[in-house]
Amino acid sequence: MKTILTGIRANSELTLGNYLGALLPMVRLANKHSNEMNVNIFVPDLHSIIAEIDGDLQKNILRTIKYYLAAGLELNENVHIYRQSYVPAHSELCWILNCVALMGEASRMTQFKEKSEGRDSCNVGIFDYPVLMAADILLYSAEYVPIGEDQFQHIELTRNLATRFNNKYGEVFVVPVKTAEQVKFMGISDGVRIRDLLNPEKKMSKSTLAENSKIMLDDDPAKAGKKIMSATTDSLAKVKFDMFNQPGISNLLQIEALVTDTPLQDVIMTWAGETRYGELKKKVAEDVTRMLTDFQARLSRIRDESIYELFEDGEEYANHVASAKLLEVQKAVGLR
Ligand code: ATP
Ligand code: MG
Repeated sequence: MKTILTGIRANSELTLGNYLGALLPMVRLANKHSNEMNVNIFVPDLHSIIAEIDGDLQKNILRTIKYYLAAGLELNENVHIYRQSYVPAHSELCWILNCVALMGEASRMTQFKEKSEGRDSCNVGIFDYPVLMAADILLYSAEYVPIGEDQFQHIELTRNLATRFNNKYGEVFVVPVKTAEQVKFMGISDGVRIRDLLNPEKKMSKSTLAENSKIMLDDDPAKAGKKIMSATTDSLAKVKFDMFNQPGISNLLQIEALVTDTPLQDVIMTWAGETRYGELKKKVAEDVTRMLTDFQARLSRIRDESIYELFEDGEEYANHVASAKLLEVQKAVGLR
């Protein structure tokens, strides 16, 4: 059986952008395939500590998994939920892959370059985390790793490390599919990018300071509605989907389509030619408020204990699969 693997860092609260652009598509993909594939959903807690953590890591870890469930993740015996740090093979394999990875290729990672630029105080974890990510994937022979564009380079690195290892030590690793095929598998060729509400030329980001720029999943739903009402639009007085000339209005149409689970084309048709932006804003505000209210209600019904139970089963499975692969690796290298 093939394996899909995904994780979301639990460093802070998520935005509506993270939810609509990453979490929800992942949950839909998992539900679509979990009858014929393993779906590994893990909390990359070892990746968390390379950066600042906003709040309590333990609480954030539980909340992350609750988000998947509140977003509609269906559980069955093929869905495995685990914490990275509870599966020691991740760190073990990371070390071995460190000895296969080259300084040059690791230094070329855009994420590393961006985060380390001009900073002597950048930790080694930031440099090395793509190698740990390769271990996260290769331990489970995962072929499909649904990720955002910002992570494509890391998939290519994983493929390179796996291939180099296999060439040197024998066919041990399953090489994940190319990023182009990952995109096809995800079925999101037109990747969703929710925009910043005040500066719609930029994408919505959790690290943006302005409160009204972003909607957080724990925002009071009525307050979130107000943020939509105060979103930046334009002075063209005509509703049209045109991300280049009318990014604010286009963003609202996009949000409306996703929160109401309506094809974007239908939403565009419904509002085509409308001249009163207030009407559109009011509708989007209502629908975002309703979506958040429902989401938060589902979230509040999920008990911590039920998450710990999922971890217990998932970590037993993960340790079983990962330690078997690690042993294969250790034997190939000559450590066993
Ligand atoms: P930061 O400001 O810290 O970079 P972020 O909001 O950009 O935070 P990330 O942690 O970088 O979030 O990304 C988490 C996931 O959410 C990734 O898969 C990313 O592609 C997706 N994502 C982030 N922002 C958006 C957005 N505005 N619209 C759609 N998807 C998004
Ligand atoms: Mg980001």
